[in-house]
Amino acid sequence: MKELTCIVCPRGCSLKIDENMNVTGNFCPRGAKYAVSELTHPMRSLTSSVRVINRENTVVSVKTSGNIPKEKMFELMEHINTLKVQAPVNIGDIVSHNPLGLDVDIIITKKLD
Ligand code: SF4
Repeated sequence: MKELTCIVCPRGCSLKIDENMNVTGNFCPRGAKYAVSELTHPMRSLTSSVRVINRENTVVSVKTSGNIPKEKMFELMEHINTLKVQAPVNIGDIVSHNPLGLDVDIIITKKLD
């Protein structure tokens, strides 16, 4: 029996998962889906920042457009650390398309004039 807290919404249900992947403690179906995913193939979104080349000492925040396998986080961070943008940028601008073949984009999350 494994125990974990559902992080899908702020309710934070306490989940229990048995050896047959039966989930209890979830208030809604999303919790069961999360629990099975977490034990078999954990996924996370990633937030970071990238350098703005035409502004001194400036970075702008970015995130993945969806979740990626947890084990790819460090590899993707290395890629993000190589990225640079030129202001102005807008929320949703794509900085990197489908990096590492992960089926997500790296997108801007803050407007910079
Ligand atoms: S099980 Fe449903 S209600 Fe409970 S934390 Fe997860 S998403 Fe929220």
